Amino acid sequence: MINIAIDGPAGAGKSSVARAAAEKLGFIYVDTGALYRSIGVNAMRNGIAPDDRNGVISLLPSTKLELKYIDGVQRVFLGGDDISEEIRLPEASMAASNVSAIPEVREFLLDLQRDIAKNNNVIMDGRDIGTVILPDAQYKFFLTASAEVRAERRFKELKEKGIEVDYNQLLDEIIKRDYNDSHRETAPLKKADDAILIDSSDMTLEESIDAIIGKIKV
Ligand code: C5P
Repeated sequence: MINIAIDGPAGAGKSSVARAAAEKLGFIYVDTGALYRSIGVNAMRNGIAPDDRNGVISLLPSTKLELKYIDGVQRVFLGGDDISEEIRLPEASMAASNVSAIPEVREFLLDLQRDIAKNNNVIMDGRDIGTVILPDAQYKFFLTASAEVRAERRFKELKEKGIEVDYNQLLDEIIKRDYNDSHRETAPLKKADDAILIDSSDMTLEESIDAIIGKIKV
């Protein structure tokens, strides 16, 4: 199986680039952020604050999380419930960032991610794919962009979906999430030594896709 890892901070364009590249290559696109978002949503649904470590851990044994690929599109199911839309709400982003710092949560999601990669050609995006989840991936990329450019992109993306948010608040959240993600003890966001660095601040989406596709020989 061919495994491609794309890591980087929130809003760098990982999901758009990975989705397009997966389509061109005929690979499955695995969005691992959806898993952390689901754990965050599950906590909120159960009245548990996402930064309440013990509370979040206590929910894990009864958490049934599944990823399904329907016509190549990932859907995430929590206890049989399709929560693919709910996990995109802004409060789910911060909740994901909080629960993702809990080592037991990362451990809980490990096999699910590795199993998909073992059985399929995948492009998997996240924060620790090249460093922890798939250290032997044949291709690794670290896609980044400035915080302002990333906030601007998120703003447009949410607006297109009819979700109104304040730009400055988005920027603050991105900066806060970057800090949380790169300073946590377990699996912090960092470029794998053998990953190719791509800064997409001044690139269009097509240019970022080409930069990645151009490196892959299948
Ligand atoms: O990629 P996305 O913005 O959906 O991720 C939401 C949050 O989940 C991130 O801010 C990060 O804290 C966490 N995450 C992670 N490891 C991954 C993917 C996401 O810690 N592989």
